[in-house]
Amino acid sequence: MSKVTVYSTKNCPYCRMAKAFLEKQGVVYENIDVGEDAGAAQKMIALSGQRGVPVIIVDNEVIVGFDSRRLNELFGSAASDEKYDVIIVGAGPAGLTAGVYCARKLLKTIIISENIGGQATESWAIENYMGYRMVTGEDLMKKFEEQVRTLDIRLELDQVTGIAKDDDLFVVKTVSDLTLTSKSLILTQGKQPRKLGVPKEEEYLGRGLSICSTCDGPLYKGKRIAVVGGGNSALQTAVEMSSIAESVSLIVRSMIRADPGYLKNLEVKKNITVHLHSRITALHGDKFLSGITLKSEDGTEQMLDVEGVFIEIGWLPNTAMLDGLVELNDKKEIIVDLNCHTSTKGIFAAGDVTSVKSKQIIIASGDGSKAALEAYEYLTQQ
Ligand SMILES: Cc1cc2nc3c(=O)[nH]c(=O)nc-3n(C[C@H](O)[C@H](O)[C@H](O)COP(=O)(O)OP(=O)(O)OC[C@H]3O[C@@H](n4cnc5c(N)ncnc54)[C@H](O)[C@@H]3O)c2cc1C
Repeated sequence: MSKVTVYSTKNCPYCRMAKAFLEKQGVVYENIDVGEDAGAAQKMIALSGQRGVPVIIVDNEVIVGFDSRRLNELFGSAASDEKYDVIIVGAGPAGLTAGVYCARKLLKTIIISENIGGQATESWAIENYMGYRMVTGEDLMKKFEEQVRTLDIRLELDQVTGIAKDDDLFVVKTVSDLTLTSKSLILTQGKQPRKLGVPKEEEYLGRGLSICSTCDGPLYKGKRIAVVGGGNSALQTAVEMSSIAESVSLIVRSMIRADPGYLKNLEVKKNITVHLHSRITALHGDKFLSGITLKSEDGTEQMLDVEGVFIEIGWLPNTAMLDGLVELNDKKEIIVDLNCHTSTKGIFAAGDVTSVKSKQIIIASGDGSKAALEAYEYLTQQ
């Protein structure tokens, strides 16, 4: 039996997903909270050569991040290459709700997703999901998952890499080499954080650059850091990190565009410096990030010696793997009609990946149920 150790932090959704995956597969592991234990944090950084969580050690192998592909190779149980009525891509609020509706219509359904819960698990306090005055994203998504698991529906942790149409069937390929076919598809793969687009960005991800402050924030205790972005998420991250880091530079491309509540919280923080009309043009350091070049609109440049940069500049829909399968709008979102139909017969879509303007849990869930009902109607008419 392999010896498995998970280095994690308390609030990191990807750590929770990795641990949930291991538990589902019956893998016994030791969990080490590097947010609480500075010595263990140093050990994790030395072992993995980077500063992001989770880090999973399987015997002598170091796995950085929630690498569902590698974990599936090591511990997964392969789904058989069966034919389904519906394949749902994504297990956020939209996909999980669609799953429940499909199962209740007795459709043979599989949900394939990189993780369970999606972005919603990153939210600390959800105050606008009906039935709860306040609930954490993690708790709400656990409830969603519990409901799915009571039904006859397959839930696979994997990444869809491509989808093709073969006459009336859809052929879905995954990163762990599965090929599955179905008569209809529900696309609910949400969106992912936008990157900076500066040289060496990939090199420094996890080595100073982070797209998840709730995950990696505790590893920057007492350090100088920067947050990039001028919206609600960026301001919230800057305020939260100001209690952990020595200082925070908030880098805003133009002007701050955030709600008054977030602005008020920012104003009272003494260790946050705001750089308006500025952008990062270069990342510096050796193995780990140690500084950035900031360029302002008038062309002047300055160096900031920061060890961490948290990117909060919006989101991109996860549609790159669709490759012409359905029509997208200019934001690369899937165009859907009022009933979650895409431009391709038999393919339905719901949630943040679609052209529906408001991106919220209750909307994603509602549209997930609509997509499933439409898929059912489509299948009964075939
Ligand atoms: C920090 C934060 C706080 C938020 N707070 C709130 C709030 O208080 N109230 C509210 O209503 N909304 C909130 N939201 C927004 C809300 O979380 C989203 O609108 C909602 O999660 C969208 O659900 P979804 O199912 O469409 O997509 P997602 O939640 O993005 O889920 C998509 C799923 O698809 C998977 N996936 C992506 N690509 C692939 C692939 N190629 N193969 C397999 N699987 C894939 C992902 O791993 C994920 O599991 C918040 C979002 C964030 C980030």
